Amino acid sequence: MNVVLLGAPGSGKGTQAERLQKRYGIPHVSTGAIFRDEISKKSDVGLRVQEYVKSGGLVPDELTVEIISRRLAQSDCAAGFLLDGFPRTVAQAEALDGFLSKGKKEMDAVVSLELSEAAAVKRLSSRRQCPKCGKIYNLAFQPPKQEGLCDADGGALGQREDDKPETIRKRLMVFNDLTQPLIAYYRGEGILSTVNGDEGVDAVSRAIYEVLDRFKK
Ligand code: AMP
Repeated sequence: MNVVLLGAPGSGKGTQAERLQKRYGIPHVSTGAIFRDEISKKSDVGLRVQEYVKSGGLVPDELTVEIISRRLAQSDCAAGFLLDGFPRTVAQAEALDGFLSKGKKEMDAVVSLELSEAAAVKRLSSRRQCPKCGKIYNLAFQPPKQEGLCDADGGALGQREDDKPETIRKRLMVFNDLTQPLIAYYRGEGILSTVNGDEGVDAVSRAIYEVLDRFKK
């Protein structure tokens, strides 16, 4: 099953993707996570993308497509994948369609998590993440059991550098300008489903399962 999770920053894509990868046994492929990993390793790619990521802008399409194509060509993606944060522009969506059709594959479903801008800002500013395992928390509605520490491995929770107020505004603007048009793109392909992302985490998961269970093999 090949799936894209669409949604504004803060709409819960990462949190839902963690659950979906377990339920459907397909890898969660997040371009944001790949970029953050490369930046922390100070690799060539990391050095090329760090300014874009830090400022809340988009990494150029060509580089992003190159990196994702390499990732999707790995064997664990052969039976399906769950994309989070890619595509983010119509050009990236077209490149993805081209990449898949070369391998005689296609996208099965695109799930768009809908959320108001005010709710997205609120969520992003209270989001915290474990630097060791990547688990995501939210101080408002999904806090860790012990303040400041990851439930899974005790890592000291931190805030993403791009979750600061000015950068949040920029990322939402970029989403509205460049990523929102993907809704129409995938509606035109007849594979778009929308889910209200403003519900609790479990309710949102249930709504996504309803969409995706029919593609389960
Ligand atoms: P995310 O974790 O999805 O919020 O992504 C964090 C940052 O990584 C974004 O603000 C962009 O700077 C960069 N990024 C992630 N995915 C893409 C993409 N598909 N195209 C361009 N830049 C991206």
